[in-house]
Amino acid sequence: MSSRHLIDRMPSSCRICRCWGASSLCGACLQRFSAPQHRCQRCGLPLPGMEAAPSTCGACTSQPPVWRRAVCAQDYAFPWSDLVGDFKFKGDVALARLLAQQLATALRRAPQALEVDLVLPVPLSAPRLQERGFNQSWELARRLGQIFGLTCHADLLQRPVDTAHQVDLSLQERDRNLRGAFMVTPGQHQKVAGRRVAVVDDVMTTGATLREATRTLLLAGAFSVDVWTVARTP
Ligand SMILES: [Zn+2]
Ligand SMILES: [Zn+2]
Repeated sequence: MSSRHLIDRMPSSCRICRCWGASSLCGACLQRFSAPQHRCQRCGLPLPGMEAAPSTCGACTSQPPVWRRAVCAQDYAFPWSDLVGDFKFKGDVALARLLAQQLATALRRAPQALEVDLVLPVPLSAPRLQERGFNQSWELARRLGQIFGLTCHADLLQRPVDTAHQVDLSLQERDRNLRGAFMVTPGQHQKVAGRRVAVVDDVMTTGATLREATRTLLLAGAFSVDVWTVARTP
């Protein structure tokens, strides 16, 4: 197990407005910031309207992404950007449960989203994991596994290459920079082959990381790959 488990604590106040209550997200904030949003089932970007039927945006219709489905709970904007940042960079682990619950709610709403066999986190490279002390994606993935009774593996997908920070790179450079960044653990391909895999990450920005993780899993024989993220850059 490459990630140390973070222990859930009982929350004591709303993580957005700080009002005191029994829940980490009060009713008012839930209503204001967590309303259901109609999204493209392929890329997770918002679509106009509130249709019940699954929809695909124009961009995904003409050029479908490598993964089968994308479920993204929230836009990467206030307050979710702050909460994800506190979770990831300050090690605020009470937020892991809150963010996993947001994603769980989005998954329950999305048709067929739970038709998967295996949940994997986007892995961190060894130096990054050591620096942070935990993998935020694993903290989300293992909670989703518990909630839905799905099999999770912390280490099945690995990141042997510590790729440079992606922030300053163009879309094409990001894809190039990430090529070969991931691998399925040698000798463990049978755990992936023929399986419907969900890959979990905290945020999808350009999708370059999830694209490369998806390619790696499909090459290893996965039947399908879905991507699940708490937030999506609009
Ligand atoms: Zn609140
Ligand atoms: Zn789309």
